[in-house]
Amino acid sequence: MLKSLLIALALGALLAVVPVSGQAQEGYTVIKNGEIPSHVGKGDTFTGTVRREHFFRPTEDAPYGVSLVTFDPGARTYWHTHPLGQRLIVTEGSGLTGTADGKVWEIKAGDVVWCPAGVKHWHGASPTTAMQHLAIHGMKDGKMVDWMEEVTDEQYAGKK
Ligand code: MN
Repeated sequence: MLKSLLIALALGALLAVVPVSGQAQEGYTVIKNGEIPSHVGKGDTFTGTVRREHFFRPTEDAPYGVSLVTFDPGARTYWHTHPLGQRLIVTEGSGLTGTADGKVWEIKAGDVVWCPAGVKHWHGASPTTAMQHLAIHGMKDGKMVDWMEEVTDEQYAGKK
């Protein structure tokens, strides 16, 4: 589902950079596929192998970010909060997400998570299955996330 959406977006972008007629509106921007490289998550914010695609950079006029994040089996974020909250849309596979009260949820493709502002949490793949989600979060005072400590194996297993 997501792949066809991305292909449709890419085709739309191709058409948009070759306007059939008219002049470009000032500020109207097309970011071409590959212009922003993929990132492998850093060791002080992710456990295991995590790849992140940032589709665009937040700006003052549009202060929000969207990224596509792919977690290998067992991989997950560190504990963190979002100053304006975060929505996760699981696009492939199955995974887990947990909150500081020790609760852990199973999440699967098609599930949508809302994390309110300031709620300490983590998200990642299941121990045996990869998981991919879109992450949508607003920017406040230049930040979209505040990182904390690593999620232990016990916390990941729901045994706080
Ligand atoms: Mn989060």
